[in-house]
Amino acid sequence: MAEVAKLEAAFERITVTDENEGQHKVPQQLKKKPSISTLSVSTLTASTSAANRMKLPLQKLATTNSTKIVQAKVALASHSAQDRSSDERQSQTHRRTLTEPTLYAQPTTPKQWHLGMFEIGKPLGKGKFGRVYLAKERSSGFVCALKVLHKSELQQGKVEKQVRREIEIQSHLAHPNILRLFGHFHDAKRIFLILEFAGKGELYKHLRKEQRFPEWKAAQYIAQMAAALKYLHKKHVMHRDIKPENILVGIHGEIKISDFGWSVHAPNNRRNTMCGTLDYLPPEMLRGGGKDNFYTEKVDLWSLGVLTYEFLVGEAPFEDSVVMTHRKIARGDYTVPSFVSAEAKDLIKRLLVLDPEKRIALEDVERHPWIVKHCKGSPRAYERTSGGKVRPSTEKEN
Ligand code: ATP
Ligand code: MG
Repeated sequence: MAEVAKLEAAFERITVTDENEGQHKVPQQLKKKPSISTLSVSTLTASTSAANRMKLPLQKLATTNSTKIVQAKVALASHSAQDRSSDERQSQTHRRTLTEPTLYAQPTTPKQWHLGMFEIGKPLGKGKFGRVYLAKERSSGFVCALKVLHKSELQQGKVEKQVRREIEIQSHLAHPNILRLFGHFHDAKRIFLILEFAGKGELYKHLRKEQRFPEWKAAQYIAQMAAALKYLHKKHVMHRDIKPENILVGIHGEIKISDFGWSVHAPNNRRNTMCGTLDYLPPEMLRGGGKDNFYTEKVDLWSLGVLTYEFLVGEAPFEDSVVMTHRKIARGDYTVPSFVSAEAKDLIKRLLVLDPEKRIALEDVERHPWIVKHCKGSPRAYERTSGGKVRPSTEKEN
């Protein structure tokens, strides 16, 4: 696979250390090319089969890498014999954790991960509160994205609670169109999130590059969004911040919802806090958190309507000055350009309904003629991720 080769190259070319390498003690193996010692074949075979059992999106890649490690060596940088045996013990524990059920249990046993278990690759991006690096888990060769957050910055930004919520919620979600959070760990100054690697980056960038998506592609993305939201809502999680900036694209062109910072687990189904981004804000959230103003997971349906519009038109339907955007949202005042098909217009109209209760249900989004027309016969995103055939057009255009 060309993608695999590209990933391998990314690791070989670049060695990135944390931006605060000077201030924090960064494990030796991240600084220099480490000295090499070999792990026993039995250990590695076990780790390969662990990777096979993982049945994760990058399962193939993990297996390939593990095989490579069997032939080659695993770096245990300048460790003493004692360190090595403790490393091996940790790798034993770790292998046991590389099965699906235990992966979900990560938040309760975060200490089994540490930075030395990862080989850090190129930087993938920078957010408000941290940096994200391509990373490879040493014992399995599993490729992931490691998000590094600085505790002091989280404190300063008063977002510790938000991050804790993000971790709690995201680590319990497992859906092909939702970015997986495999686990997390921390040291004195930083929190590390072990995230699924989205090989094709931000959807926002794809959209800006293409200006707007062809209808077939928009429909396939919206179908994947509907599937993901259906899964979330079944678990009583509302995302509340659906927008292209919070969607990543997997290596097969499938979309992955990320950024659960604003999401809430809503057992009582009703929240009244104000959050989200103006362009995507549903009318019921515009009014802010009065005691008579509750909203439900139907907020995500409105945002799905805005997203459908933006995919097809290239800009959000209520984009304007702050005051005008407010006004337009409150009135549901938007126009769809004539190049958008009647079927797509119909779906947008059924999603952008002022009364949350009257918005089309997610099941009906999946059955909508526009979705059916463009998604029938094409493999579902999650089939593609597990080695199914990719439609040539999908592969080419993503
Ligand atoms: P914000 O701080 O507002 O959440 P953000 O979402 O861009 O902004 P991060 O989540 O920290 O911030 O991510 C920074 C960038 O790193 C992203 O914009 C994206 O380009 C890249 N990135 C993040 N996570 C992944 C991932 N799992 N796979 C690939 N790239 C990623
Ligand atoms: Mg983010």
